[in-house]
Amino acid sequence: MSPSGGARLVHIPNSFTWPQAHQVMLDEHERFLSMMVDRMVPERREAFLKLANSHREDGSGPYMGIMRTNSFGVRVGNSENILEDMYGAVCDDISRVNHSCSPNTSTKFDKHSFSFSLFACRDIAEGEELTVAYCILSDGEGARAEKLLPYGIACKCLSCADTTGESDVRRATLDDFSLDINEWAWSRTLLDDWMMNKCREHLDLLREEGLEASDSYHAALVAMMECYIAFGDAKRASRWAERAHKCLWASDYESLEHFLDPESVGYLTHPLWRVRVDTRLEMVMRRLLLIGKLAGREKLEEAMASPEFALAFAAARAEGSYDL
Ligand SMILES: [Zn+2]
Repeated sequence: MSPSGGARLVHIPNSFTWPQAHQVMLDEHERFLSMMVDRMVPERREAFLKLANSHREDGSGPYMGIMRTNSFGVRVGNSENILEDMYGAVCDDISRVNHSCSPNTSTKFDKHSFSFSLFACRDIAEGEELTVAYCILSDGEGARAEKLLPYGIACKCLSCADTTGESDVRRATLDDFSLDINEWAWSRTLLDDWMMNKCREHLDLLREEGLEASDSYHAALVAMMECYIAFGDAKRASRWAERAHKCLWASDYESLEHFLDPESVGYLTHPLWRVRVDTRLEMVMRRLLLIGKLAGREKLEEAMASPEFALAFAAARAEGSYDL
């Protein structure tokens, strides 16, 4: 692993042009890398030097060329300046996986074990090549081609070969797709099936483009689970939880272990539980019952005496609906 910001340690005179400054930074990276490679045990050094180098004629030294060709960006640390936390990591095997704009795998770095994992994002047939994305998947064909150029890749995938522009439009929705699950859940004006239809359409589109590796895919699966939670259907919700639970590669992944069992108390305590079917009065009463059951009589009495409860109870009585 090599610091991406190592070149900040070198002074670059203001009189230098950008190409000159860039070359100084590349040379400085090379100097750092040669020290690191020299310290590697022989097997690791040999494995590193066997990796491809597609940066032979752009001013990169031999080690930097291998880094630029094979490394994955990794953030280690929580400083305000993200660049200071960024490192490039090279793996023995995962760095050898080829690119696809519809990848069937995704990588994830684990800070605690200091290791990478490669996850299958969909079913992979026996003999099918494993692929990962070297570029941003929501970008259009032009931007992806530009990003892939330094790797010497002229991608011929279905999306890159599409001349109608439809694939670019579909991919652009990856960034546009927003999940107002709370707004829908509490709304009286949005129809019951509005959110689910939106999620299903999005999931179909992602499968069509082969974008199961995207965070958006995981988010839509979680949203489907929450839709069924809002209807109080734990059985169906648990099936979507099971799917989302497998998306270990998603950057915002959180374990859904407590939603895998439809009988789990996790459903009853979820803030969206039955909000599409119960009146607010029923919800207030259910909340109290739960407090009594899970925290005991003393806590229940405390909750009933609180000003929050008085307000919620008055609002629920006056409204008699789930709409806020
Ligand atoms: Zn492509």
